[in-house]
This record gives sequence, structure tokens and C-alpha cells, in this order.
Amino acid sequence: MTADAFVAAAPTLHRPQSLEEACALLANLDQPMVYGGGTAVQILIKQGVLFASDLVDLSLVPNLSGLERTSSGLRVGAMVTLRRMETDPLVRRVTPLAAQVYGHVANPRVRNTASVGGNLAHGDYRLDPPTALMVLDARVELRSSEGTRQVALRDFFVAFQETDLRHGELVTAVEIPGQAGSTCGFAKLSSQSVNDWPCASAAVLVTSPVRGQREIRIGLGALAEVPKYVSVEVPSDAPVDDVVRAGRSAADPVIDPIPDIRGSADFKRRLGLVAVEDAIRAAWGPAGSVPAEAAAGPAGPTGKEGSDARGESRRRWWRRR
Ligand SMILES: Cc1cc2nc3c(=O)[nH]c(=O)nc-3n(C[C@H](O)[C@H](O)[C@H](O)COP(=O)(O)OP(=O)(O)OC[C@H]3O[C@@H](n4cnc5c(N)ncnc54)[C@H](O)[C@@H]3O)c2cc1C
Repeated sequence: MTADAFVAAAPTLHRPQSLEEACALLANLDQPMVYGGGTAVQILIKQGVLFASDLVDLSLVPNLSGLERTSSGLRVGAMVTLRRMETDPLVRRVTPLAAQVYGHVANPRVRNTASVGGNLAHGDYRLDPPTALMVLDARVELRSSEGTRQVALRDFFVAFQETDLRHGELVTAVEIPGQAGSTCGFAKLSSQSVNDWPCASAAVLVTSPVRGQREIRIGLGALAEVPKYVSVEVPSDAPVDDVVRAGRSAADPVIDPIPDIRGSADFKRRLGLVAVEDAIRAAWGPAGSVPAEAAAGPAGPTGKEGSDARGESRRRWWRRR
């Protein structure tokens, strides 16, 4: 057998001009694959491991690139870019945590091209955006020729590299509740370059007090086979050290890292708990609180802020050893 026999045949590219057409293609083609921004699909093509007969490119489908204010928060079309999530004033005002986290994905080249729907459908356990979307209680809208359904993002990732998407379905939108009255924090720790995938990431949302209690919602990335979500209630007037202890105790049982070139399971577990602590301190302390509807100014979140946080975390981690 020649080497050529191992090269996958080039898939046929389809460019549907309506959602109905896209759904019909996905329902009827043999081995179709949706093409969103293409940042992940292109890598599979270049590596010769794309097992799809057809690519269904969503770029000409109308209404998938909308971003609008709803009564409860935001509705984000599947083809909205990660860069727009990072920079759009509406996102930064209504869901500042989402804007912050999208601003820490990969590098500007990837963020300029990758789409919100493609990022979630990619299903990687290290994705950053799900950490924020889970604590914000976002819902994913899925569409097929059979109809439309919504899934809580907390239930969307079902197994290693596997989402709840069924054959013939595509992501059309994400509904994100606004975070008015809550404060938030995010920490992404990488053991390689600043723009690399995270070794551990944690997003935290602290809700406003109800009967003397506040809920600490924690979303974890890269720390188990799927993004993980936990929450814990603490007294509104608890000292920050107690809140950190409660958050770390809640997160610890669900952390089950996959060892790889970025670190051993033990290293990632320790780093994960540092990320949880960093995110809680950012969300709880007055300096780090980000009141919704009054998010960061035009300069916005930058990779620099991320690397400063990373530097401080690393220093704290080494001091503890
Ligand atoms: C160098 C590099 C570094 C990265 N670092 C990070 C990081 O630090 N953090 C992070 O979170 N991510 C990271 N990523 C992953 C990146 O976020 C994803 O590649 C990107 O979000 C995928 O979006 P896309 O629109 O390009 O998807 P595509 O490449 O188009 O598709 C990805 C997958 O989703 C499916 N798909 C696409 N759109 C839809 C849809 N609307 N409905 C159903 N299925 C769909 C495709 O069929 C495919 O299976 C990195 C990627 C690269 C290349």
C-alpha cells in the first residue's frame, strides 16, 4: 500500500445560504462536518486526519452573526467571533466575565477567526469560554431539520471531547444571562507560553446576597475530561480566606486532571486550586470586583493582565512548595 492510500480525500465544500439548507445538508450527507471559523478544522485538514466527506460552511447563513440584548441578558449568534465577544461594548457591559474570558483564548489571530459556536462544539476539555458560560448559567441553542432545542451549558459537555450535539445538529446561538449585581474573577494558568492552552483555568461568579448568603459559582477548565462546574454558599460577610477555603473544598473533588506535556496530574491539581483561589480573591475583594453594566473601559481586558495574574500565581505557588 502506498503512502497516498492514507491521505484522506479532500472533502466537498458546501456553502448553504439559509439555516434550512444547512440543516438539510447535515441531515442528508454521509459524513458531514460543520465549518465555523475553521481554526480547528484547518488543523485537522493539514494533519490529514479530517474524517469528513463534506464540510458545511456557515459563513453565508444569515442571522448567525447577530449579538443582541435580551430581557435577561445577551443572545449571541454561533458565528460571532471570539474577538467580538472580547471587545464588544455590549458584552463588556452586560457580561463582563464573558468578555474577560474570551479575551484570554489563544492569540488574536485565533480569536479574530474562531466562532462562539465552533468553540463550544469543538468540545475540548481545556476550552476557556465554558468556564465563564457555566457560571453565568448560559444555554446553547441547537438546531436540526427536526427542530430546535436548548441545552444548559453545564450539561453540554458529556464526555472526553464529546458534546451533547446529535447527528444533523448545529449550534445556532448562546443565551447568556446578564450578571448584574454579581462580581467575578478569572484565572488562567499556562505552564508553557502566555498564549498556550491553559494548564488550569477557573472562572468565578459571586452572586448578590440573599438572606445573608452569597453563592460562589466556579467553572473549571483543563482540570478533568470535561469542563466542570460547582457552587457553594457562604455567609455574605465571610472573610475572604474562609471563602477561598470553601471554594477550594468545593472544587477539589471534581478535579481529575489529564497528565500531558503541560504537567503531571498532581501539578495540574495544585495549579487548579491556585486558579480557584486567584479567581475567588479577584471576585470577592473590592479591588477585583467587576460590577456588571459598568465593565472595563475601552482598553478592555488584555493578555497583559493575564500574564500579570499568572506571574503572581506562579510566585504564590512556588512560595507554598
Ligand atoms: C494555536 C491554538 C491555540 C488555542 N488555544 C486555546 C485556548 O487557550 N483556549 C481555548 O478555549 N481554545 C483554544 N484554542 C481552540 C480554539 O478556541 C478553537 O480552535 C476555536 O474556538 C474553534 O472555533 P472555530 O469557529 O474555528 O471552529 P471550527 O474549526 O470551524 O470547528 C471546530 C469544531 O466545531 C464544529 N462546529 C463549528 N461550528 C459549529 C456550529 N455552529 N455548530 C456545530 N458544530 C460546529 C466543527 O465541525 C468542528 O468539529 C486554540 C486553538 C489554536 C489553533
